[in-house]
Amino acid sequence: MKTEVIEKLKQICGNDFATNDLSQIQGYLYDETENLIRPEASKECIVVKPSSSEEISEILKYANEKLIPVVSRGGGTGVVSGVIPTRPSIIISLERLNKLVELDEKNLMITVESGVTLASLLEILSNSSDLFFPVHPGDEGAQIGGMVATNAGGTGAVKHGIMRNHVKALEIVLPTGELVTLGGKLLKNNMGYDLLHLIIGSEGTLGIITKVTLRLYAKSNYSGTLVVSFDSTRDAANSVPAILQSGITPRAIEYVERSIAIKAAKHIGTTWPSENGSVDLIFIIDGSSEDELYDTSEKIVEICEANNAVDSIIAESSKEQKRILDIRSNVYTPYKEHVADGLDMAVPPSSIPDFIDDITRIAKKYNTEIPSAGHIGDGNIHNFILTDENGNLPSYYEEFKKELYKTALKYGGTITAEHGTGKTKKNYMSLQYTDREIKIMEGIKKVFDPNNILNCGNIV
Ligand SMILES: Cc1cc2nc3c(=O)[nH]c(=O)nc-3n(C[C@H](O)[C@H](O)[C@H](O)COP(=O)(O)OP(=O)(O)OC[C@H]3O[C@@H](n4cnc5c(N)ncnc54)[C@H](O)[C@@H]3O)c2cc1C
Repeated sequence: MKTEVIEKLKQICGNDFATNDLSQIQGYLYDETENLIRPEASKECIVVKPSSSEEISEILKYANEKLIPVVSRGGGTGVVSGVIPTRPSIIISLERLNKLVELDEKNLMITVESGVTLASLLEILSNSSDLFFPVHPGDEGAQIGGMVATNAGGTGAVKHGIMRNHVKALEIVLPTGELVTLGGKLLKNNMGYDLLHLIIGSEGTLGIITKVTLRLYAKSNYSGTLVVSFDSTRDAANSVPAILQSGITPRAIEYVERSIAIKAAKHIGTTWPSENGSVDLIFIIDGSSEDELYDTSEKIVEICEANNAVDSIIAESSKEQKRILDIRSNVYTPYKEHVADGLDMAVPPSSIPDFIDDITRIAKKYNTEIPSAGHIGDGNIHNFILTDENGNLPSYYEEFKKELYKTALKYGGTITAEHGTGKTKKNYMSLQYTDREIKIMEGIKKVFDPNNILNCGNIV
């Protein structure tokens, strides 16, 4: 990258906030994508750390004029290589946009700069409010702007939905440098096309998010955790709609294969609480009193037993709850070194039993296993394609993955429920969308970013 570019960026943001020194930019070249599938990053990049929307606007005006690729970087916890610069680029790190703008308790909303991390947002709320924010993807290092850009989900989606359901307003800098504000502190707004929702989930390809207004909710006083075990995935999956139809909406309904739960528990030095059965459902429930929690737990167990549950355990103490949730959070960790790719397909929830049967059958065909766990209440299961015995991508990787994707689509599903398209899933867009649909997306990109400078290589 030419010296004049770095000089210009230093002029905009200050000498300390623009660098191309490899030892300082190394940590900005990758995200959490599995090593074997992530693209190679260009090392010829400049990392710049603006402190305001105005500085970002100046950077984008300059990059647009000089046709320099720009990558926007949040917490770097993404898993589809969205932040990996595959060409020489300016990497705009949002880390200095880390301030609370306004906590508006009367409207149950909070406005933050986009570089505020999820951990900081939760801390702000627990220190100064009785309100809470429900979306929690696994890593609290994610920034709110990144969570909007990826339309993050997580375990609470079954009750509270995903990022899209809580974003009320965004300030964005367009690739041309113009500043726009979309939405407002409104619960209803039907004027014109909904550009706010076009930006949510656009993975930084249409603009850089600089401020976010989120809806907040009253906290529940009590929460409990329940593990119910089954001998078959089909029985476990059949219990889920029956529970929801009964009027109970747990905060989370997670599915985990027993072999995975045992490995995860061992990995963190504990044991899985139930012995009977081969698969488990983990429920997190909220209530306004302990009695309500027990009542709800009993109803869930009754429904599960009607669907052949073989065991149930209510975590009585907060320590026991934490132990179960820690195991759930670690289902991936023991496999980490052996995972070639972590898939996150979703199907309509009622198709989950057939979908899992198909996945198991396809894995057998390739003479491998495919550990599965995930957000069964949302029809979203994570499946891990394992490496070969030498730790490389298995020879059948591409064929196996495509067959799995096509199986999800056969049920009216999606290739990615929450991780996004990024660079690793972009080549499979035509499996899910028609040429006409992809052309419309390309047209939208062109309207926002006529010179294709922003996050090029992601999505379209
Ligand atoms: C252990 C673990 C568990 C996870 N569990 C879940 C889960 O349950 N559900 C889930 O949805 N995700 C999950 N994720 C994925 C990840 O945490 C989310 O995608 C998260 O929302 C990414 O936020 P980030 O700030 O780290 O974004 P980054 O990784 O920095 O960026 C992601 C994308 O957003 C763009 N972007 C970032 N900030 C901005 C901005 N201000 N303006 C415009 N574009 C921007 C980037 O260019 C990139 O394309 C998990 C990740 C890990 C490591």
